Order: sequence, then C-alpha cells, then structure tokens
Amino acid sequence: MDLFEYQARDLFAKHGVPVLAGEVIDTPEAAREATERLGGKSVIKAQVKVGGRGKAGGVKLAATPDEAVARATDILGMDIKGHTVHKVMITETAPEILEEYYVSYLLDRTNRTFLAMASVQGGVEIEVVAEENPDALAKVPVDANEGVSKEKAQEIVAQAKFPAEVADQVADILVTLWDTFIKEDALLVEVNPLAKVASGKVIALDGKVSLDENADFRQPDHEALEDKDAANPLEAAAKAKNLNYVKLDGEVGIIGNGAGLVMSTLDVVAYAGENHGNVKPANFLDIGGGASAQVMANGLEIILGDPDVKSVFVNVFGGITACDEVANGIVQALALLADKGEAVTKPLVVRLDGNNAELGRKILSDANHPLVQRVDTMDGAADKAAELAAAAK
Ligand code: GDP
Ligand code: MN
Repeated sequence: MDLFEYQARDLFAKHGVPVLAGEVIDTPEAAREATERLGGKSVIKAQVKVGGRGKAGGVKLAATPDEAVARATDILGMDIKGHTVHKVMITETAPEILEEYYVSYLLDRTNRTFLAMASVQGGVEIEVVAEENPDALAKVPVDANEGVSKEKAQEIVAQAKFPAEVADQVADILVTLWDTFIKEDALLVEVNPLAKVASGKVIALDGKVSLDENADFRQPDHEALEDKDAANPLEAAAKAKNLNYVKLDGEVGIIGNGAGLVMSTLDVVAYAGENHGNVKPANFLDIGGGASAQVMANGLEIILGDPDVKSVFVNVFGGITACDEVANGIVQALALLADKGEAVTKPLVVRLDGNNAELGRKILSDANHPLVQRVDTMDGAADKAAELAAAAK
C-alpha cells in the first residue's frame, strides 16, 4: 500500500526523522487558517500518490494567508498524471534550501536483501540520476538481521560522499529512517529531497512510503492509512470478507479454487468470448481450498453484486477439497442467498472435475436449480458462460 506524503511525514515524525510541521486540508478556505497557524507563510503541496508534483505545478509557496487560499484553489481539483488532487498539505516554509539530497531503503528482491540508496544529487527524479550519472547514486546492501547502526549509516554516508558538515546529521537520519522502515513493515521509504537548509539543519522535505500489506495483522494502525475513497467498493467488500478478488472490465463472473486455475480460467473465458461478441471475464476470484458453503456464498454475493456481470462461471478442480463438498457449498450458498432476499437471477455455469467429481455432479443435478447448468469440460463451460453473458448483454 502506497501512502500519501502527509502520511509518510507522520510516520517519519513518529520515528524521529526531522520533518516540517503542517496539516492536511481539503478546502481552499482552510488554507488560510492553517497558514495563519504556521506564522503567515506556507508551502501548499498536492497530495497525490505520484511523483513529479513540483514540476506539474502541485507544490507552491504562499507568502500570505490570502495567497495560500489562492494557491490551494489552483491545486485542489488539479489533475497530476491522471490523479485528481482531493487534499493538500500546508507546511511550514523551509528556511532557504541550500542543497537537496536523496536517501531511501527498499526491498531488493533480485538480490534477496534490503538496499540503502543515497545521493547528494537529490531533488530531481532519482531514476534520472541513476541513468545519467550512476556513480552519483550509492547503493549499499543492508543485512536484515544487522540493520542500520550508526556505523552502517556512516558507511552509506561515506559511499554517497555527503559533505563533511552534514555527515553526522545524515547518518542519524539514516538510522531513524531505518527504524521507520523496519518498525512500520515498509517495502520502501524514500526521502527526496532531504534538504540542507540555511541554518545548516537537514530535514526530510518530501517522503514516499510503501507498506507491506502482508504485515497488516501486526500493524493495527495501518488500516487507518487506507484511502477508502479510492478503493473499488466491490474490492473493499471482498477484502472485508477475506476474499482474494480483483475487479475486471468484462461480463463473465469467475469463481475458482486456486490462483493458477483462476488465471487460466480468465484466459479460457476471454478466448471463448471472442466467439460471443467479445465478452470478457468480469473479475478474478480465488476461493482457495476448503470452499465451504459460506465462502461460496460470500464469493457469489460479491460477484452477483457487480452490475456488469451477466453470467457466472464456477470452475473447480477438486483436490484436497473434494467436488462433492464444493457442490454442497454451491447448493447451500444459493439457499443462503435466497434466504437473505438476494436470490440468484443470473445464470451459473458450473464445471466440476477432479476428486469426487461424479458425486459432486450428481449433487448439482439432483438439486436441479433452474439457473445452474453443469458443463463438465473447462472449454465447454467457458463457451457456455460466454454465450449466456452475450445473450444477456
Ligand atoms: P515532488 O515533485 O512530487 O517530488 O514534490 P517535492 O515535495 O519533492 O517538491 C518538489 C520541490 O519543491 C523540492 O525539490 C523543493 O525544491 C521544493 N519544495 C518542497 N517543499 C518545500 C518547502 O517547504 N519549501 C521550499 N522553499 N521549497 C520546497
Ligand atoms: Mn520529491
């Protein structure tokens, strides 16, 4: 999960990385009071999860509260690389910036390690520095068990050739930034620019943080950082039910057990759809092993709640979870939904194969639900589901 700059700044502050004071607002008028609270001058910064805001006009200085209102008016609603600005951060103006540096930690998957990156040529996009002047970007692997001590931080500072007068400050910042990285279970923490200001002090002026959602279970505070407005409502509902669901653009709802099977189901449906007015898969949904009636009902509820869905393809290959359990799950799920007043109104095509397939198919046939069809091959079932979706379009 990527964070907004103001959220990154809050995490930096929590772990002792020096930042500027500020607040987040979503109306131009609020920029006046915020600027007054900061002593009459401020920087107005667009909060969008994309870099290059400065160049796009999303970072402006305001010398008076009135000017802050004017700049906030310009920036709120602005489009930056496809992201609409809904919030701006009003911060203290940094004292005059003398130098702009770059520091970050990230997970280096290729080399199976953490990596520190640092450069005295910050402020610009680091990809550009890496491309045009690779020697100016120090890359120092960090052992996960050893982490970044003051000594390790000094090694990073030396490799990046930070000027002597800021070396100690930057090393301290690298230690607190490492704390942020590890204690928040982040995949990336980046400061660009890390600025040396007129007083000689070094401050994080812009922050980028990406959190590892796999660690959510031990990071209860991170839920509050989610951008609920941006989430797809179906995906949010699926997440609340612990379903592995991704919304797509098509018309054929997909449920399968196992990510690999669901991925290939998407391909087969897209292929079959070419013969039926180009209908496409409407989603990815892996209900995993042990698909109980409740899990099946949850999955069907999400998929049927998608107005784009015209037909549903349930594709199950019985392994550890036997097909008879899945068939019972489907039958009970249909009853559960009917009891909730959400009776299924869209056709379901079910393909069961693998462990106990015969028994599973018999359970479906005996249930004889008017909207459920059994097709016993994957290609045949995909074709039928595509045909039904095309007919309902
Ligand atoms: P980005 O363009 O999205 O990376 O946004 P940044 O927050 O990095 O801002 C871009 C540039 O604006 C920085 O490199 C600074 O030169 C400048 N800037 C950012 N914050 C301040 C500030 O508080 N005061 C001043 N004077 N300049 C700032
Ligand atoms: Mn920046």
